[in-house]
Formats: sequence, C-alpha cells, structure tokens
Amino acid sequence: MQELNRSIILNMIREYGPISRSDIAKRKQISPTTVASAVKELIQAGLVCEDGAGASNGGRKPIMLRISPENRFLIGVSVTNYTITVAEINLEANIRKTHTVDVAADPAHGEQIVQLLLDSIAAFIAQIPYMDRCIGISISVPGIVDNYRGIVYYNSKLNWHNVALKDIIENSFQLKTWIENDMNAMVLAEKKFGQYSKFRNLLYVHAGGGIGAGIVVNDEILRGARGGAGEFGHTSVDRNGIRCECGNVGCLETCVNWDAVRAKLQAAAASDRSSALWSLTNGKLADIRPSDFSAALNVGDPAAMTVMNETLEYLGAGIVNMVNLFNPDVVILGGKLLYGNDVMIDSIKSYVRERALQFSIQSMEVHPSSLGDNAELIGAASILLQDVFRFSLT
Ligand SMILES: [Zn+2]
Repeated sequence: MQELNRSIILNMIREYGPISRSDIAKRKQISPTTVASAVKELIQAGLVCEDGAGASNGGRKPIMLRISPENRFLIGVSVTNYTITVAEINLEANIRKTHTVDVAADPAHGEQIVQLLLDSIAAFIAQIPYMDRCIGISISVPGIVDNYRGIVYYNSKLNWHNVALKDIIENSFQLKTWIENDMNAMVLAEKKFGQYSKFRNLLYVHAGGGIGAGIVVNDEILRGARGGAGEFGHTSVDRNGIRCECGNVGCLETCVNWDAVRAKLQAAAASDRSSALWSLTNGKLADIRPSDFSAALNVGDPAAMTVMNETLEYLGAGIVNMVNLFNPDVVILGGKLLYGNDVMIDSIKSYVRERALQFSIQSMEVHPSSLGDNAELIGAASILLQDVFRFSLT
C-alpha cells in the first residue's frame, strides 16, 4: 500500500508538478501525513525535489515539489536485429549518451549475442562514475517477449529461443531489469513521450530491418495470449514467395524490409544509368541508404518511384488490412524505411485513404513517428518509467 501511494504521488508530481503537498493530498484524497511521509522518501530517493514557494491562498506559502529528472537515471538498451545500443537516459526519457555496437549479420549462436549484450552494458556502465544513481536497466528487443517474466521466447534473426534475459541481466549487474518487445515499447513511448497521447487506439507500424506493429486498443497494449500479437511482418502476402526465417513462405517482411527494398533499388538503378541513385551514392549502389531512397523520391527519380510503388502494393495493402481489423484513431509510421521519407509516408496515407473501409477511417489520422531516430531507446526507457511511475495509459 505504501509503495502504491508512493508511486501515485510520484506520478502526480511528474504530471502536475510543480505541485504542493496539500494539493496532492486534496486531488488524490490521501491524508496529508501519508503524502508528507511518501514525499520525504521520494526526496531521499532523489526522485523529487523542492522547488521554491508557490502562491498562497491565504495562509503560509506552500513549498512546491517537482521531479528531479537529472538526479537519477536509467540504462536504456535497444536491441535490434543489427545493432545493440546502450544509453544513459534521464527520468523524462531524454537521452544523455549512447554507444552502439553491430550485431554480426549472420549469428551462428544466439548465446554469443547475449554475451555481446552483456559486454556492451558492462563496458558502458564502467564509464559511469555515478552508477549508484541508476534505477535500473530497461531493454527493448524484437521478437516474442513475455514482459512479465522477462523472457524472450523467440527471435528468428538473433537465434534466441526461451532466453531468460531479465534474470541474466539482473544476475550480471545487480540492477532491476525490464524487458519488452520493441514494437510494444515504441507504441507505449509514442503515447507517453511522443505526440499521440490523446488517442486511445493506436497502430504503430515500423518498417526497417524488420516489419512490425505495436497496437494499443482502448489504452491497453494488445499482447495476445503469449505476447505474439502484432507480428505484422509475418503476415502471409505471397504464397509463391521466398522462405522467411519464421518457417513460412512469402511473409510481408521478406518483401518490404529495408534489405529487400535496397536490393530492388540496386537492381532498378543498375539498369538505369540516369537514376539519381548513382550520384547520391557516388556510384556505389551497394551503399544505398534510406536517406538516398528518400532523396531520390524527392526528385521524382523513376527507378526509386518504381520501387516505392512496388513496396506500397505490399506494405500499403498490409496497413489497410490492419486498419480494417483494428480501426485505430491514429496510424503512426516509423522505422528507417519510413521515418524521414515524406514521399513514401504521403503515398501510404493516400493508399490507405483510398482503400480502407471508408466509415472506419473518417476521423483516422496518419502521421510519422514523433520520436524519430531515437524511437527504440525512448521506447526502452518508457517501459521502466511506466512501471516506476505507475502511470496508466489513459
Ligand atoms: Zn515470417
């Protein structure tokens, strides 16, 4: 009970601070003595500080309280199928510093990647002289995750099967650890730290190294029975397609992840010497980056336009299906294939507007991610922060 009160009060200060002790007591109908003792603990824990005197309403001026976001911090970790990024993040989900290592493209053993993760965290925290102020480690990972038990059940690219990641990290660093699926973490972050907090039904679509979705229905993350909901990339779109790592053939991901799109761009530009992609990559088509694709689309490059339209046929159709299934208030588009690629985002918008059930989308909005390149890390941070501050999604 005491801990619950503390969390409620902490979240109150986070949301409404600067706020006085008596205002907290009034708003939450908690006794002033309970508020006073909880606030004392929060100040001792370095989470809250006093912030001068507020306006008086007759009597003595009240002392105001606010969160002290710089006093404490967390270690946020974003694991993708290509990289591991470790970061120091403050209590308002602002990133202070980061370090990234590449994950070998073809991991023979998932265990090696777990070791790489441990080594990366160890090296990062060895550089921080004030680790006593760290409140925990928060990790976002792709794959099917049991966030409660902290187990990664399955990730085909990292070759992880039933990895008890929370226990492994906690045993190694003696710091409380949180684990969440990357898409769930990002949709949570869009709602709590991005621009889309007013929506109750969110569909976050991520197109990058993989394709995925994070779904919030009536202010709750949709997880499914075992955490496997939202595996948008493994929806079947081509029964004659290539084999996917999941064992199926013709998954959406095999058609439109960044590697597939880059290969198509290379092929299209290779047979079109006038393509802008040649100059954008200084003649090295193997080095095409997402920003080159976006720049080529901005100048209406025919090779890039052809690849975009082909990508749209798969990805756009997939998003239409998701919109018709979940009827979201907002669709948020992120990942390196989409973020910063205005032409592609506009094309998806029109595609969905034309093809989704018209009644369902009358008030639906489609926007780019509001977290940008840091979406994964802010996602990671929001898992821990949501738990520590106990903020509800509403
Ligand atoms: Zn698949």
